[in-house]
Amino acid sequence: MASNEEELKPYLITDPQEMSARIDELRRQGKKIGLVPTMGALHLGHLSLAIAAKNECDVTVVSDFVNPTQFAPGEDYDKYPRTLNADISLLSKIGTDFVFAPSPDAMYPRGFDATVHVGGVSKLLEGRFRPTHFDGVCLVVLKLFNITRADIAYFGQKDYQQVQVVKKMVEDLNVPIQIDMRPIIRERDGLAMSSRNQYLSDEERKESLVLNRALEKAEELVRGGERESSVICDAMRQIIETAKDATIDYIHIGDPKSLVEMERVSGDVVVLLAVRIGTTRLIDNRLIERK
Ligand code: AMP
Repeated sequence: MASNEEELKPYLITDPQEMSARIDELRRQGKKIGLVPTMGALHLGHLSLAIAAKNECDVTVVSDFVNPTQFAPGEDYDKYPRTLNADISLLSKIGTDFVFAPSPDAMYPRGFDATVHVGGVSKLLEGRFRPTHFDGVCLVVLKLFNITRADIAYFGQKDYQQVQVVKKMVEDLNVPIQIDMRPIIRERDGLAMSSRNQYLSDEERKESLVLNRALEKAEELVRGGERESSVICDAMRQIIETAKDATIDYIHIGDPKSLVEMERVSGDVVVLLAVRIGTTRLIDNRLIERK
């Protein structure tokens, strides 16, 4: 039982073997393990996942690792915010048990050669703009699953396509883990929380609101009976183009699982978009479910 604040601090582990050994011991005691994979620079979106894990599992592990293999040359790997001490302090407030923060060398030692490629759903959308991204995500996520041997892994809907890719990997490779997707946490004004929001200037921060506004418009149109995806996408484009620094990478209406484009809306759909505001690339989405 924790008697002072020090004991409530999550235990920081940097060595993958030590992480596995700790978990083996806990699994032998029959504990249910929850994993939250993150790249750190934690905000309430990440914390909502860590809280869900805390509520549902006996032991929670939050990984805090800026994974080099999911960044392409020229992307923001070097400037990505790294705030491990602040992250640990936030996680101590919600009772996370372990923070796993390995070095890149510990995860990818000299001679590391493996790749993981899921195909299918990973080739659309983000896969077209960032062709090596999901291979890197799957590689690190599969390693984290194996190191922590978690029962449940928690992911945010914020990265909707990522969740579908990870689910497909788990299904195709018979990985014994449950994937749990949690809702997007937004700022009061609607911007989806993201570690990358801090790259935005004040002006760009205001302009970034067009993403959520466009998604709201899409939902309003679908619920109002509009079925033509092109009409919905045009309405969204008009809203986004009111921001002078916005460049649209994609607006996409697709099947919620395969993400295959739907020309006409029928049943449940997911609307996904990627927009660059200045040099900052933002993604957001909305799942529109119809009972
Ligand atoms: P990241 O650190 O950006 O790799 O994100 C780690 C996890 O947190 C991923 O599963 C994300 O989808 C999730 N996440 C990031 N932002 C949010 C948010 N605003 N709401 C909910 N989950 C989020």
